[in-house]
Amino acid sequence: MSPLEDALETLRRGGLIGLPTETVYGLAGDAARADTVASIYELKNRPTFNPLIAHVSSLEMAEELGRFSDLARKLAETFWPGPLTLVLPVAKTNPVCDLARAGLDTQAIRWPAHEIAQKLISAFGKPVVAPSANKSGKVSPTTRKHVEQEFGTALTDILDGGASVLGLESTVISVLGNEATLLRIGSLPKADIEAVTGPLKSALLDEDAPKSPGMLSRHYSPDAKLRLNASVRSKPDEAYLGFGPSSVDATMNLSEAANLTEAAANLYAMLRTLDESYSAIAVAPIPDTGLGEAINDRLRRAALQD
Ligand code: AMP
Ligand code: MG
Repeated sequence: MSPLEDALETLRRGGLIGLPTETVYGLAGDAARADTVASIYELKNRPTFNPLIAHVSSLEMAEELGRFSDLARKLAETFWPGPLTLVLPVAKTNPVCDLARAGLDTQAIRWPAHEIAQKLISAFGKPVVAPSANKSGKVSPTTRKHVEQEFGTALTDILDGGASVLGLESTVISVLGNEATLLRIGSLPKADIEAVTGPLKSALLDEDAPKSPGMLSRHYSPDAKLRLNASVRSKPDEAYLGFGPSSVDATMNLSEAANLTEAAANLYAMLRTLDESYSAIAVAPIPDTGLGEAINDRLRRAALQD
């Protein structure tokens, strides 16, 4: 059997697999089975109040899960398949178990663009939940090897889809009626969404807006101590993660060409590599525009210590 067929068998049995997507690698299982979803929370050590995203392989499948307003449909048609997660009111036909939604009456849905993810989900014929394949609070994996390092023998089917081309989690917005609210900054820049929706409300600023538990402040952390907006390395045993051509003395460089797309794709893999050999990492300033907003968001969270 091919690795894909093996993985399908595992899913059908209620087991978990490592699934490549264009954002990061996911720990995927049958979204309808509470026992499967419980095993995801267990393996990730994830607080169970944190709901999961259901991944689909068509708009038709998505429409069984959530109720699409005109605005939600327009966003789906514009950005799917791709790195946008829509949080919608739950549909009556929704098969996802309550545990995966953490009891909420809304459903987070994404149609990923990665070919292997699409093949797997459409062969399975049902939505899979797939939070990032890392222990809760740790850096997200962007290669098959990262997933292996994170879970070892607990996970036998890890599909190899190469390095994730985007390298940052999806952007999450809720669309309740025709009002869209930003819940998590991510791989799809806010400005691209606003070109469709007009100015987004932001749960990042508005105390009354619906909260995304993914905004728990500490997240995506390496063990090493991070120092942000650093223009130089302060001591010899500190790694320097550069950005742009002027970072001559960098241990690693997110993008020599100062390209934010390249930097986003490299961020987690480089943090992981540096975390293996250094106890402190200084990071060069990253411009806070376009994808830089999401990169800076992840860096700020990674810099918070326990
Ligand atoms: P991850 O599992 O790492 O892909 O992250 C999933 C993100 O989606 C987290 O930020 C969750 O809090 C968020 N999320 C999932 N379902 C909902 C929901 N129903 N309402 C608000 N946020 C959600
Ligand atoms: Mg995650």
